[in-house]
Amino acid sequence: MRLTGDSVGHVSTIDRRTFLFAGALAAAGVGLAACTPDGDWVRLEASAIEALRRRVEGTVLVPGDSGFTNAWMPRNGRFADAVPQLVVRVAGDADVATCLAWCREHGLPIAVRGGGHNYAGLSTTTGLVLDLSRLSSVRVGPDGRMTVGGAATNADVLDATRDGSWLLPGGTCLSVGVGGLVLGGGIGYHSRWAGLTSDHLHSARVVTANGDVVIASADEHPDLFWALRGGTGGTFGVCTEFRFDAVPVPRGEIVYYRFAWTGADAALAMLVALDRIHQTAPPEFVASAGIQATPVDDDGPDAAMDVFVRGQYLGGEDDFLAIIAPLLEATPPPLSRDIRVEPFWEVAPRFTNPESENHSWGDISRYADAPLPEAALQHVVELTADAPSRTPTTNVQFWMIGWVGGAVMDSVGRTETAYVHRGMTELLRPTPVWANLTDAALVADLEAWTSAVIDVLDPHTPRESYQNFPNLAVEDWPEQYFAENLGRLRAVKAEWDPDGIFTSAQGLSGNG
Ligand SMILES: Cc1cc2nc3c(=O)[nH]c(=O)nc-3n(C[C@H](O)[C@H](O)[C@H](O)COP(=O)(O)OP(=O)(O)OC[C@H]3O[C@@H](n4cnc5c(N)ncnc54)[C@H](O)[C@@H]3O)c2cc1C
Repeated sequence: MRLTGDSVGHVSTIDRRTFLFAGALAAAGVGLAACTPDGDWVRLEASAIEALRRRVEGTVLVPGDSGFTNAWMPRNGRFADAVPQLVVRVAGDADVATCLAWCREHGLPIAVRGGGHNYAGLSTTTGLVLDLSRLSSVRVGPDGRMTVGGAATNADVLDATRDGSWLLPGGTCLSVGVGGLVLGGGIGYHSRWAGLTSDHLHSARVVTANGDVVIASADEHPDLFWALRGGTGGTFGVCTEFRFDAVPVPRGEIVYYRFAWTGADAALAMLVALDRIHQTAPPEFVASAGIQATPVDDDGPDAAMDVFVRGQYLGGEDDFLAIIAPLLEATPPPLSRDIRVEPFWEVAPRFTNPESENHSWGDISRYADAPLPEAALQHVVELTADAPSRTPTTNVQFWMIGWVGGAVMDSVGRTETAYVHRGMTELLRPTPVWANLTDAALVADLEAWTSAVIDVLDPHTPRESYQNFPNLAVEDWPEQYFAENLGRLRAVKAEWDPDGIFTSAQGLSGNG
């Protein structure tokens, strides 16, 4: 998989060995077992599942049923070993409440599933996957108020808004669920000039742990509403519907740009220059950049590196060229240089990624709030040149994302919503990608590469990571994801989910 300009792809095919194993057990009439967070195993009788089938309007799928595997398989292939006992594709609030009560009754863990893209597999479980995918409608009112189903995707939103007057600032990957996106914050090519997805949340309809249906907004249950804007999905309740206040689409033409180079020298020059630009650039200037180790030829590993920067500028070409000038002066002549001045809706779809091929990934992110020393960026480039693998499907990438900074993002305070990471300039992201079923030793090397890059960044960055790019290797994740908002988030958790029904490997608990 090669850098094309936005994000790594996802899994689109299934791990058939896992599927056949689970299906064979079911066919043999053996009750499947689920592991609770405490490590206890729960065995379910077929009669219990039949009873649930009778109580819900949606679909109950068990191993062996057609569509079961596609319904539970997470997008990150490395978490494809947690086969759920059942998947319930709910039809609405009542089904959600029924499933919650049924899981309580049987002591079964539950995982809420929107678009299935959680990087750390947090929407997987050996218990019941609560599949919201039927809740995918999107409506846009004439005043920009949007009503979005709990598992609508970025693609659903784009389809409903494209060529119109309103935009919901979202992410790049079309199949990511808006639910998971907004509940962890939501960054993308529009967040720098228009704010996070969660900055535009007006209210959410939430089925709570005890099965009540409540509206969370600035006026109703404001603490819950605060927590839903960055406190992460699968934590406080099941959001079956969101309302957003969309932003007006910029009128007139804007600038789209993309420059590409190869080689370690260009990589370093680009990273240093872009990092400096990010310190002062106006919100209208948006960039993300990446470098990636590619297969080595006669010119050696330093030359085998793809380098790109791309983004948009909401203004005229001359002003854009003035902002980007230090980068173009510092770097060698680009191998490709694309600058277009086009209407907004010509540019916006260029920043989206469709579904891509089957693989696993294990990135860790780190915010920056000040310029990075050139020596640190040089070390990152050297580590990338020294990649443990550089095939098209298994390689390492380093991303410098400028979407998270600027005056618009900082117009909301660190504690005003649960998304704490205001006052930042960039999100830095070492990203290893590998083909599923890659040898464990190579996966360990790729993870060690990621940690090595984070170690380089550590002394120069606040210890904060984006909660929507979670990684189980981050041990102090509550502090890194939530910083000074952690205490209030735990209090909200204790109030709305006192028994810890919504839990996961990185699930907040209400008791410290
Ligand atoms: C290829 C790729 C590209 C990405 N690009 C971006 C990007 O550009 N910007 C960005 O900010 N993030 C991006 N992400 C991260 C993404 O925002 C998070 O992974 C997000 O949580 C995924 O949401 P989901 O619904 O698809 O995933 P899921 O795995 O289904 O859900 C993620 C979490 O939210 C919970 N959840 C989902 N829906 C609901 C709901 N309705 N109610 C309650 N809980 C819910 C789940 O239980 C789980 O804990 C990307 C991820 C991938 C894999």
